[in-house]
Amino acid sequence: SGFRIRLLSQEVTIGLLEVADMAFPEYTHKYLNLALVMARLSSMAMTNARMFQQVEDAANTDELTGLSNRRFFFRTALKEWERAERYERFLSGIMFDIDHFKQINDTYGHMTGDRVIAALASRCRKALRSTDVLSRYGGDEFIVLLPEIDAFNAYQVAERFLKDIRGMPFDVDGHSLNITISLGVASLDKTCTSLDELINRCDEALYVAKAKGRNQTFVWKP
Ligand code: GH3
Ligand code: MG
Repeated sequence: SGFRIRLLSQEVTIGLLEVADMAFPEYTHKYLNLALVMARLSSMAMTNARMFQQVEDAANTDELTGLSNRRFFFRTALKEWERAERYERFLSGIMFDIDHFKQINDTYGHMTGDRVIAALASRCRKALRSTDVLSRYGGDEFIVLLPEIDAFNAYQVAERFLKDIRGMPFDVDGHSLNITISLGVASLDKTCTSLDELINRCDEALYVAKAKGRNQTFVWKP
């Protein structure tokens, strides 16, 4: 004593509208007409919501690596920063960059370079917890925000990355490529007054790691 209407969006079923136990079965056609209008409106609303979500996801994602991008990083990082500051929790950042990446592009071509960046991102993602925020920061540069992690433990995470990357070559386009990275670590402390400052400290530490000969981690100090 009822009926169901399939809700479609671009030929795909996205839902079901069910009318059961009609109080006045003699008016079935009226129930049906009203339900069809509701079904159409519901499909449109759900399609819009899905499209909005897809656009939002695309705007937050780096296409090459599938990691979140800088835009998403700053949004998420700001929330973590506020939380850590308010509740006096640990918060650390690691910025890292591939050493002499230009040589990979120059030797093997830009496409291979792209695949190296993607493979590196995937290896790093696997090494992190779901609460850590790993993003592609720029060309061959990445950033990780580690909530609840102090400087010492962030250093341990960075060293693990360093060893993971240099310890196993990347098999890309038939080449076995040995790459190394340099890493800069900084953690929230009383003298660090903004998220930008924390990130700048990671950047400064990365710069020192590069200057000291690359293929190493440096922890920011004043
Ligand atoms: P360093 O050790 O100082 O980091 O040397 P580097 O050669 O890696 O120099 P740097 O990090 O300054 O430059 C990174 C290079 O990465 C520059 C650019 O040509 C290349 N690059 C940036 N984005 C991409 C990308 O999406 N794909 C590829 N294949 N190359 C990129
Ligand atoms: Mg580089």
